[in-house]
Amino acid sequence: MKPNARVLLVEDESSIADNIKYALNAASFEVLWATSGMEALTLFKEQAIDLVILDIGLPDIDGFEVCRQIRELSQVPLLFLTARSDEIDRVVGLEMGADDYICKPFSPRELVARVKTNLRRYQISPPLAAVPSQDESLVLNDENRTVHFRGQLLDITRYEFGILQVMHKHPKRVYSREELLEKVWHEPDNSMDRVVDTHIKTLRAKLKEVDEKAEVIKTHRGIGYSLEIY
Ligand code: CA
Repeated sequence: MKPNARVLLVEDESSIADNIKYALNAASFEVLWATSGMEALTLFKEQAIDLVILDIGLPDIDGFEVCRQIRELSQVPLLFLTARSDEIDRVVGLEMGADDYICKPFSPRELVARVKTNLRRYQISPPLAAVPSQDESLVLNDENRTVHFRGQLLDITRYEFGILQVMHKHPKRVYSREELLEKVWHEPDNSMDRVVDTHIKTLRAKLKEVDEKAEVIKTHRGIGYSLEIY
């Protein structure tokens, strides 16, 4: 298991949250704590999260809704905390996209064991590596010009977005520098010779921040670039 996996804990009751944090910290997990659904979603979009522990009864939107929104972005392991049997029925019956659930009250030791099992299961058959799909890899939103890679929001510039947008339409197709210049910058001039390479370089660095091993943009020497993950 990767050391210091980061867990997002979504729980509005601080006494319960404190116990969980203590147990996870003792097992060398890093814990980010959110006390509401909206806060959890914001944290999830901003940070690299390895596993989510999600209470169902939250002060704003409930855990089911938080789960639904996280699942639009990522297949990260997700464990529900539930207090009532009707909640368990919903978790199990409606296939909420949760990987596991644990009933309150639970022992911190039991919870840590569940977290470890779910992380391990995820790493043995990582759905992202096995079947790259649009949901899990590179998601572009043309309307608000955002890019999510492996569920994480990238801090991206206008031209970096433009490059991805063009290449995303035809993955694996090789685009020459001239073609990208024309499609993204519209009125390029001669002084912009290296501008595409510079932007590809910064873009790659941002993608590698999310996944160091990912080869998202491939260089074809003397020809141009292609998008390999989509
Ligand atoms: Ca609660």
